Amino acid sequence: MEIILAKTAGFCFGVQRAVDTVYQEISSGGPIYTYGPIIHNETVVADLESRGVHVIDTPEDIAKLHAGTLIIRSHGVTRELYETIRKSGLKCVDTTCPFVKRIHDIVEEESAKGSQIVIIGNAGHPEVEGTMGWSHTPVTVIETTEQARSFIPEKGKKVCVVSQTTFNADKFADLVAILKDSDYNVSAMNTICGATRERQKEAREIASMADAMIVIGGSTSSNSAKLFEICRKECPKTYFIQTQNDLPLPLTGNEKVVGITAGASTPKNIIEEVLKNVGTAGRKF
Ligand code: SF4
Repeated sequence: MEIILAKTAGFCFGVQRAVDTVYQEISSGGPIYTYGPIIHNETVVADLESRGVHVIDTPEDIAKLHAGTLIIRSHGVTRELYETIRKSGLKCVDTTCPFVKRIHDIVEEESAKGSQIVIIGNAGHPEVEGTMGWSHTPVTVIETTEQARSFIPEKGKKVCVVSQTTFNADKFADLVAILKDSDYNVSAMNTICGATRERQKEAREIASMADAMIVIGGSTSSNSAKLFEICRKECPKTYFIQTQNDLPLPLTGNEKVVGITAGASTPKNIIEEVLKNVGTAGRKF
């Protein structure tokens, strides 16, 4: 059996930067909090918790704190939340990924000019929620073709479409095509980040030549779920696993090529353990 491991599997630049920042802050002393888990990975979050890094989830939680450092994760937060943190007097360490920040700027600027904002992404995802909070006007989130078909902008308004950074690139193109195929004044900016595009492209290429494909990611990681979707289209025997504990897979033993990729919040050691346990040989793609 040949195993092909995607070069792009695991932490992206933004996630690595956020995680490194938290570990650096531990040495600076004082209570440390992250607004939401720093990444969608229970092992990393548990390790941080054991080192005194606590997860808080709501503005009400912030109001209860009187000292310490609050770290904003790579997903970013709303403009209002920055204000809440500023008023709390906590030290704020911001690890919002620059690619997410760029979308906040677009949304703020375009909505200030009067455009109606559409985000193509998953409603309820923290990045999408954060981005919505930079708009001066109500935002519509579109995720499905049905939602795109039934979208009606406010009368006379221009529509500015952006994407969640980790959205499926093909799906984004399909949804934009539906929105543009209307009488509305629609302009779209593909704000899917380069790291996501590369990861999706490589996953698709490997899955297209694999007899079985493994996607490693956290159960709540939306970028990993999208990788699974992409790989399954190319390779029906695609499996989503969280750790090596989900092995063995129901393989027949006749698979000649098994591909492995992983989401942006999957730590290297988890990928290495899966690689070690799934077969005996491994090579980089
Ligand atoms: Fe930044 Fe892209 Fe990673 Fe999100 S997936 S943290 S936007 S590099």
